[in-house]
Amino acid sequence: MSLKPPPLKDDCFALPPGVDWTPVDEALAMLRGRLRPVVSSEEVPLMQGAGRVLARDVMALRSNPPQPNTAVDGYGFAASALPEGDAVLPLVQGRAAAGVPFDGVVPEGYAVRVLTGAALPEGVDTVVLDEDCAVNATHVAFRGGVKPGANTRRAGEDVAAGEVALAKGRVLTPADLALASAVGHGALPVYRRLRVGVLSTGDEIVAPGGEAGAGQIFDANRPMLLGVLERMGFEAVDLGQVADDRAALRACLDGAGTDVVLTSGGASAGDEDHVSALLREAGAMAEWRIALKPGRPLALGMWDGMPVFGLPGNPVAALVCTLIFARPALSLMAGAGWVEPQGFDVPAAFSKRKKPGRREYLRARMRDGRAEVFKSEGSGRISGLSWAEGLVEIGDGAQEIAPGDTVRFIPYGSFGL
Ligand code: AMP
Ligand code: MG
Repeated sequence: MSLKPPPLKDDCFALPPGVDWTPVDEALAMLRGRLRPVVSSEEVPLMQGAGRVLARDVMALRSNPPQPNTAVDGYGFAASALPEGDAVLPLVQGRAAAGVPFDGVVPEGYAVRVLTGAALPEGVDTVVLDEDCAVNATHVAFRGGVKPGANTRRAGEDVAAGEVALAKGRVLTPADLALASAVGHGALPVYRRLRVGVLSTGDEIVAPGGEAGAGQIFDANRPMLLGVLERMGFEAVDLGQVADDRAALRACLDGAGTDVVLTSGGASAGDEDHVSALLREAGAMAEWRIALKPGRPLALGMWDGMPVFGLPGNPVAALVCTLIFARPALSLMAGAGWVEPQGFDVPAAFSKRKKPGRREYLRARMRDGRAEVFKSEGSGRISGLSWAEGLVEIGDGAQEIAPGDTVRFIPYGSFGL
């Protein structure tokens, strides 16, 4: 009997001899270099623009504010005609209100009633606040020392007509819609939404709420990934699930009709890993053994010109790979450019020892100004994903983290969730 068991490994991520693991940053650089925007553009009503990607620079058609106006309710006059010290000015008849300008010119040495947002009447460059005035039927009195231009807004002080108000590639926020409207737009040029298919693979996977027999598990990845893509502003397309069956998988990819597909499961090099096998068969497969925990193999391939991200089956690894790899890649394909999540350096509330040679992401959340991590690093622990509000990123080099040490926390929000 010549069959001998191999020596035990205490770390299932240890480098097998002769295998080169791709560092996360190298894998990201390759992705960034190889992908291109794939979406055409269209016009949408401004009101429906939230979350869409601008396909062109948007110029200010009009200045904001369009004319000088008053920032407060009060009395307006020309600063140059003020006396030394306290002032008592005669009032002109009428007033200036928002949308209802004063009809006429305010003579030097006179004041006029003005309401917030009103265009400054001709002859007015300065406003004194109601609360600083005493008034009767004919005059207004206020203390000296009012600065010329006080309580007014200059035309174009926010944005001048002709300036670029919003740049191409921007993912439109609600605030961006406010700005675009203010500078005169009613419709916006945006890219068609990137269509992203989501497919679960595995003989053991049962649709949510279905009948699960012995050895079967409910599909956790598909609802999660569809939700992630929706939140990120893509058009998420549910491609359902397929068994560990190459023909079924092939038929599903052939019929996807999407710009890109995210599969989960079957991405390694095992007997039932049909995603990687099929992509390899198609001849356009890069199997990346990425130095990442949780993560491991990520199968990247082209299926008839359509990129396929073969994510790991473990839900924790599937989510981490989606946030770290798929998100910037999809953003680039959607016309929004490569994106890097904004992280924050914060004190750790935990301790950890880590070997060199791979990047790690821990399920984490902020409490009392410190980053806590989930009690287990097990990559099948879905409850930890739900518990977490972001990830702690631990660099590729060796690290020993003690409570109070600085770590990088990336909130889920920084990934567009
Ligand atoms: P695989 O990558 O196919 O070897 O799967 C790795 C692990 O993830 C296995 O325990 C699978 O049962 C599990 N898994 C695969 N797909 C899903 C899914 N959609 N939902 C929950 N667990 C999954
Ligand atoms: Mg599987």
